[in-house]
Amino acid sequence: MKEKIERIANWMKGRKVGPYTIELNITNKCNLKCRMCWLRNFSCSRKEIENSKWIKIVEEACQLGVKEFRIPGSGEPFVKKKLVLEMVKIIKKNKRKGLIITNGTLIDDEVTEVLVKFGWDIVTISIDGPVPEIHNFIRNSDHAFQKTIDGVRKINGYKRLYGKKLPYLRMNTVITSVNVNKLEEMIELGYRLGFSEVLFQPITVFSEEGRKLLPKKKDVRDNLKKVMKKAESLGIYTNAKNLLKKGSIKAEDLPKLWKKVIETNDGFLKIPCYEPFYNIVITPYGEVGPCAVFGGNSSLNVCSTNLKNIWYEGFEEFRKRLRKGEMFDFCKNCCVPIFLENERIREVLRREIYGR
Ligand code: SF4
Ligand code: SF4
Repeated sequence: MKEKIERIANWMKGRKVGPYTIELNITNKCNLKCRMCWLRNFSCSRKEIENSKWIKIVEEACQLGVKEFRIPGSGEPFVKKKLVLEMVKIIKKNKRKGLIITNGTLIDDEVTEVLVKFGWDIVTISIDGPVPEIHNFIRNSDHAFQKTIDGVRKINGYKRLYGKKLPYLRMNTVITSVNVNKLEEMIELGYRLGFSEVLFQPITVFSEEGRKLLPKKKDVRDNLKKVMKKAESLGIYTNAKNLLKKGSIKAEDLPKLWKKVIETNDGFLKIPCYEPFYNIVITPYGEVGPCAVFGGNSSLNVCSTNLKNIWYEGFEEFRKRLRKGEMFDFCKNCCVPIFLENERIREVLRREIYGR
């Protein structure tokens, strides 16, 4: 975390440095069809980047100085198991940090052995119910719960076998109307399965079906309070407290809050968003942008330009506009956690660099 701020501080002092994090969205394909997933309304005939190209991107990113590689679940990464395992080996041989987000149903012995042996850092596994009936309903699958639990147990088994602490296991639960009253049980499940933390996430609505899964705000608040107590009693980390705090800011307030940042700060501190100063995101089709929200809305593509040029030249346009206090069209889809992370970065810069 300290190094992330240092990278941003370098830009502030006029020194151009490489990105700290990279997000590799290797596929939009998934073996499941969850009820709330954006993929249910998504069809695309475009060809995703070849595996060999992804490997080159990982190698280039290492040369560029990326410290943290994220392989998120825009689809299910392990539908491209061979590619993921090759990436894991290269990333860890280069002594970088790695995080992957998965639905856990495709974690087999081969996957587990590579993750554990190569010391992969974090595996985030999505579980949306404490019992098969709830999880499988959300996942639209009869066997998803059991497969995911088996996957978690496999990782724990290999960790014990090789005497390793990593990967660190994180459980992620999307709060819906069908699990909102069972959030305490999610903590108990996470504890029993050896997760180090259980994170909750508000549902993002992409469809009518997703809208039906929206929980009542009061139920969310009441149950997150119970979660905090349960997590404390079991000694397991959760983000319930942060979520309760974030709930007080709404996404529709963001334009007003950005305006205030721009008007009440000066110099580098008036930049409303620092993402293009430390982060690169690549879609399955090669488009490159500064954050997960850009949604492919960019003329930069790794199939036509190398990563170094994109970072040092292509991204200058994003940085220039943000320095002037201008946002992008896609910023209207931004979310509260990103805003709060930028606030946190600004405060650290103010304190440690400006000494204010
Ligand atoms: S597992 Fe994840 S990517 Fe796959 S359908 Fe469910 S929510 Fe979407
Ligand atoms: S969408 Fe959000 S994270 Fe992306 S550039 Fe805009 S403010 Fe930054």
